Amino acid sequence: MGRSSKDKRDIYYRLAKEEGWRARSAFKLLQLDQEFNLFTGVRRAVDLCAAPGSWSQVLSRKLRSEERNEEVKIVAVDLQAMAPLPGVTQIQGDITKVSTAQEIVRHFSGQPADLVVCDGAPDVTGLHDVDEYIQAQLLLAALNITTHVLKPGGTFVAKIFRGKDVTLLYSQLRVFFSQVTCAKPRSSRNSSIEAFVVCLNYSPPEGYVPNMSNPLLDHSYDVDFNQLEGPNRIIVPFLACGDLSAYDSDQTYPLQLDASQEYRYTPPTQPPIEPPYQQACLLRRNNLLAKEDSLPLAQEDSLPLAHE
Ligand code: SAM
Repeated sequence: MGRSSKDKRDIYYRLAKEEGWRARSAFKLLQLDQEFNLFTGVRRAVDLCAAPGSWSQVLSRKLRSEERNEEVKIVAVDLQAMAPLPGVTQIQGDITKVSTAQEIVRHFSGQPADLVVCDGAPDVTGLHDVDEYIQAQLLLAALNITTHVLKPGGTFVAKIFRGKDVTLLYSQLRVFFSQVTCAKPRSSRNSSIEAFVVCLNYSPPEGYVPNMSNPLLDHSYDVDFNQLEGPNRIIVPFLACGDLSAYDSDQTYPLQLDASQEYRYTPPTQPPIEPPYQQACLLRRNNLLAKEDSLPLAQEDSLPLAHE
């Protein structure tokens, strides 16, 4: 397969490179913004699980302008290192740690954030139940950190895997936000169970004190609608968003999109720094990607170290 074949199969991958985004995910946040107007009045934003940084790029381009640069603060957090971006402070850290929440608040000089976004995803196993569970744990960590840093009235956007537990998740998020919608941007493939919760107007229960235990398991804040069944069952508001005339992420497009312009391959905007698959790539390049027991001992000794 040539290097242009992915450009053909994945239109948003190609457009991301052509428009200078680090990842195709940028379009998801842009399309969510088209629907929910996420950035109006936002000065302090947090991007959780930010690497390689396309959502931070969107925040940087949308929030910063000549007159407002001084006031705007964007903090990006990820386990992995990320190449620098204008106006974005980076924290290489784990969103499940309270110390990360404290560091974010320190960057805002004690002031709360207007917007928290989280596109966090663990490595997918392909087993839907397991993937959904791990994704829910990451969402929980993101919500936890959000309760520490978000101002009342603020907005929280996070990736979810839309499985059978989505109603429960919706009810739980409703405890903290007055409006919760499950949205699927056009750039998110239909074939994927990925969707996004857009939670508006942060209004935690009275007396709620943020801590890093599990707020979703704290039943003292349960509300009646968690248990509704039958005709009273909750229907989670679901919204497909993004212009219908926009590209369909599940479709294959010809390389020459515009008759007047010839196709030219564009390299990725910013390759990830030290990605977890780096060692596998090194091994493959050196033809060493074989089963361990089939490797001669001498070769095993020469395997590169993970952080070489
Ligand atoms: N929104 C990003 C962008 O537009 O470039 C893409 C995010 S990528 C889909 C998911 C990220 O979640 C990975 O970079 C991964 O390192 C990060 N992640 C997973 N678990 C994390 C954790 N516990 N703390 C911080 N980051 C985490």
